[in-house]
Amino acid sequence: MIKVLLHLKPFALMISFIIVLVAGQALAELALPTLMAEVVNNGMMQGDTRYILTYGSYMLLVALISSVCAILGSYYSAKVAMGLGRNLRKKVFTRVENYSLHEFDQLGTASLITRTTNDIVQIQNVLVMMLRFMIYSPILCIGGIALAVSRDKELTVILLVAIPILIAFMGALAYSVMPAFKAMQMKLDRLNMVLRENLTGIRVIRAFNKLTHEQERFKEANGDLTDTAIKVNRTMSAMQPMLILILNVTTIAIVWFGGVRISQGKMEVGDMMAFIQYAMMIMFSFVMVAMMFVMVPRAQASAERINEVLGMEGSIVDPEKSGLPSEGERGHIVFENVSFRYPGAEEPAISNISFETSPGEVTAIIGGTGSGKSTLVNMIPRFYDVSEGRVLVDGVNVSELSQRELRSKIGFVPQSALLFTGSISDNIRYGKEEATEEEVMQAAEVAQAGDFIAEMPEGFDTAIAQGGTNVSGGQKQRISIARALVRKPEIYIFDDSFSALDFKTDALLRAALKKETDTSAVIIVAQRVNTVMDADRILVLDDGKIAGMGSHGELMKHCQVYREIVSSQLSEEEMKAYEQ
Ligand code: ADP
Ligand code: MG
Repeated sequence: MIKVLLHLKPFALMISFIIVLVAGQALAELALPTLMAEVVNNGMMQGDTRYILTYGSYMLLVALISSVCAILGSYYSAKVAMGLGRNLRKKVFTRVENYSLHEFDQLGTASLITRTTNDIVQIQNVLVMMLRFMIYSPILCIGGIALAVSRDKELTVILLVAIPILIAFMGALAYSVMPAFKAMQMKLDRLNMVLRENLTGIRVIRAFNKLTHEQERFKEANGDLTDTAIKVNRTMSAMQPMLILILNVTTIAIVWFGGVRISQGKMEVGDMMAFIQYAMMIMFSFVMVAMMFVMVPRAQASAERINEVLGMEGSIVDPEKSGLPSEGERGHIVFENVSFRYPGAEEPAISNISFETSPGEVTAIIGGTGSGKSTLVNMIPRFYDVSEGRVLVDGVNVSELSQRELRSKIGFVPQSALLFTGSISDNIRYGKEEATEEEVMQAAEVAQAGDFIAEMPEGFDTAIAQGGTNVSGGQKQRISIARALVRKPEIYIFDDSFSALDFKTDALLRAALKKETDTSAVIIVAQRVNTVMDADRILVLDDGKIAGMGSHGELMKHCQVYREIVSSQLSEEEMKAYEQ
């Protein structure tokens, strides 16, 4: 919590102003009963109208001051709390943007969303409370006690009984709801996760008739959160009536014993009225402190979750000074005995991978699902750091290049195409902001997307729906290929990007690509033999290891795994035809 509150530094001036306002409000409120006692004792009892009018106007003035302070205090407290929220969200967001995939895997997307939104709101709420009452309550409490004692010492005994009862009650309350409050954030996380999976997976859920299953899952998470919230609120709902009871009993006691003392001539009516008001103030300030005890732990849980995000360093960091690639080298990738193990995994996902590409050459990677193809290509843009070995791009270890520099060399087409909301040309320009219209069109042409874009109602200006749901899988894939092409990068990486294309488009695309890439490295991950067959070099991956490397012809002769893949996909005649 403290750590989060350190982010309040830019608001120091405003906070000091709030403290002044809140203290002013508390002092004004403390003055009121005393003034009232004067009016009653010396004005009303003596029938002195002028006295009543003078002190009455003082009271009005003080009440006005207290109101103005209260309004301004609330206004600035809200402003500071919202400002802190905005800054925290910005910090969390920037931090998360610097995360490597490893940190994403670790915290989970749903939790990151809750942390950026709901957890920060919790902090805001408690901050408003703190700003308003941290200074206000102690002043009210101490001032109230001093002034109450000055009115009548004997009656203070009542407070000595009432306050401990109040504290015990509030303490018990806080103790019983605190754990539930803490648990609520985690339950909210879970609800968000289920909801997110449902919203993004709605097609699969429908297709597999899993609606009832998902409804159950949602109901469970939702019910769990609700139960906890109800439990908390049930306990909390006992609070108000009990508090009013305690306050009323105290008032009755004061009136009772005060009445006795007044009839004995030991106390004046005004003093008793003032005493009642001070007693209420004192007790109110205890209630506020107790409320903070309830709210702070929940915010504390939120603060810890935010600190966890802010404290987690992206495991992939830029080197102090970027090693410039050696002159003239372009599109040259070397893997040297590269192994990689996902954090927590027992087996390495890829091991002992060595190969080298030259500019203008196409390197294809083929292998069954889960054989480590995506993992292997993720090493080039340094989405993950290798566990062993080295990856060199243009003669420099990727960990010695700044991520920005490294990634500016790469046109990456991920396994599952992802488009952003915006027009088609916006999406292609995502690869190169300053791309001209011709460049965008040419990239689309090479990606074999020109035809279908031309057929769309507004051509390149056609809007892409959220998640790219208004284009087919293959169209999405081609737009995301165009996005990589428009950069004219040194290194092209296609992670299974041709799988959603039909054979003819696949072939046309590769032929068009060939003309574009005579000075670049091209890495094509594929499942289909047709896609990789005419590559200059084919890497056959099996269970994370290289089972063979060479041209199609060489592999057919020497690589058992490759032959198996080929024979599972091509007919006898086709195989014979290709061999010649
Ligand atoms: P391919 O692309 O060839 O289908 P991947 O490279 O995606 O295979 O996966 C290789 C292996 O690594 C698989 O066994 C998979 O379960 C594991 N794996 C992939 N991504 C992760 C991840 N983020 N965390 C842990 N294990 C992973
Ligand atoms: Mg893959």
